[in-house]
Amino acid sequence: MIDKDMLDRTVAFHGHLCPGLLIGLRSAIIALAHFGTGRASDEELIAIVENRACGVDALQVVLGTTAGKGNLFFKNHGKQVVTVGSRLTGKAVRISLRRQEELSRAEKTERLMTASDGELFDVVEVEMDFPSKAKVFRSVACDDCGEGTMETALRLLEGRKLCEPCFEMAMTSKDFFPPKG
Ligand SMILES: [Zn+2]
Ligand SMILES: [Zn+2]
Repeated sequence: MIDKDMLDRTVAFHGHLCPGLLIGLRSAIIALAHFGTGRASDEELIAIVENRACGVDALQVVLGTTAGKGNLFFKNHGKQVVTVGSRLTGKAVRISLRRQEELSRAEKTERLMTASDGELFDVVEVEMDFPSKAKVFRSVACDDCGEGTMETALRLLEGRKLCEPCFEMAMTSKDFFPPKG
């Protein structure tokens, strides 16, 4: 059974209930149970997802692996697979959706709500190379627009430190490539 409160919060965040969201939600619940832990308030859990689909939003809500904290990583494999790792134990688990027979959307939703973990997913422990923790860099003013910019994102142009948009603008402006003659 999917916890009603968890389902409601996930749907509220995502905007609608759909099979993809349920795949993410079921995966997230499996991961929490596997590690015997709660939602990550910091970076103690990390998730590597192999798609950019609805289910990723459930991972953000339930696992606390979020775009903003830097503990959510994407591989664009187009597969319904997520690998979740715990920095506390150094262990990781790969959760992949088993191939499903062709079903209507309503049937898929029903199945994802009621079928057992084992009917839906293959779950295996795997080795994980943990990505280094998200770094915090100094913010430096762009020499053109003056906006604070993470120093590693600045571009150098004739001794000036520019943010990416200002760098692109300078490179395409006529002043930078004056007409010959
Ligand atoms: Zn969706
Ligand atoms: Zn700028």
